Amino acid sequence: MRSNNIPLRKCVGCGARKPKSDLIRIVKKEENGKINIFVSSGHAEGRGAYICRSVDCLIKAKKARRLERAFSGRVDLSVYDDVEKLVNESEQ
Ligand SMILES: [Zn+2]
Repeated sequence: MRSNNIPLRKCVGCGARKPKSDLIRIVKKEENGKINIFVSSGHAEGRGAYICRSVDCLIKAKKARRLERAFSGRVDLSVYDDVEKLVNESEQ
């Protein structure tokens, strides 16, 4: 049985709850009135959204504009591209 101490986060693609370490984190950070949305590899502060390292989840999230919904605003397509790169890397 999995320990309750592992923080679970919901994937914006499939909706499954998984340990944070299994997911890619996308962060929205507001700095000096400028909004930055980027893929976080470390512990960047800010509002986060999570997605599985899976092409299927990425496609679902992109089609349904789930990141836009998660961050209540526009999300540059390059953010999805960055996620795609990470997904491809981890599937190789
Ligand atoms: Zn997923």
